[in-house]
Amino acid sequence: MKKIIAFDSDDTIVLSKMPATPRMAGLLAELLKHYDVCIISGTDFEGVIYPNTVRQIEQVPGVDLSRLHIMPTCGTRYYRFQDGEWRLQYQEDLTEEQKARIFEAIETSAKELDMWVDNPAGEIIEDRLSQVTYSALGQKATPEDKYAWAEANKEKRKLLNDAVKARIPEFEIRTAGTTSLDVTKPGIDKAYGMKKLMEATGVTKEEILFFGDKLEEGGNDFPVKNMGIDCIAVERWEDTAYALEGINAVS
Ligand SMILES: [Mg+2]
Repeated sequence: MKKIIAFDSDDTIVLSKMPATPRMAGLLAELLKHYDVCIISGTDFEGVIYPNTVRQIEQVPGVDLSRLHIMPTCGTRYYRFQDGEWRLQYQEDLTEEQKARIFEAIETSAKELDMWVDNPAGEIIEDRLSQVTYSALGQKATPEDKYAWAEANKEKRKLLNDAVKARIPEFEIRTAGTTSLDVTKPGIDKAYGMKKLMEATGVTKEEILFFGDKLEEGGNDFPVKNMGIDCIAVERWEDTAYALEGINAVS
């Protein structure tokens, strides 16, 4: 019996960095009547998860937010809705020195592989406090540009992953999102987030069902599958919506 349904964000419940559609927000609000729901992502809360997903769910009339668990930056932060507001439960940040080493390793590797664009849409490397993220075309690139880039750079993304790893082997490097690479302290991945969620709720891994679009080895959802949580692989948010219509219908 599943108690928590957990979701990756980008390409699992939303189109990369875009607001959740009313259809998806409605399905998640309906799901909250039957299950605790967790959203775990490499992105941050204030800039991405809140405006793009949480706010859309909040707008569904009658929604109960007390069963929603939000885990930004791979679960290094954890938010719950308490006394009418979103409250940070814990946070685990990188030091300034660690972040400087990571910035340097990413920039050098990306330039070496000709993966450093001249006119990015926003920052290419972003400090997310507990995580540093490289976005090939910049944080604010359009979904169309990002999908085109991802299609053209499948092999190169692996090379970048290896090059960064060789420079800073003490950190964890993962291909993420559509054009991104996430760097965190070792052991900080979505499996870590799931363990924190289990600690906080008392739920076992057998009681969690996880949806993700990057469940293959090397993908940022793989650690969840690897720890033995039941997973459903999707390619786009519409696949998840279709599955949720089924789950909601029988719950
Ligand atoms: Mg994803």
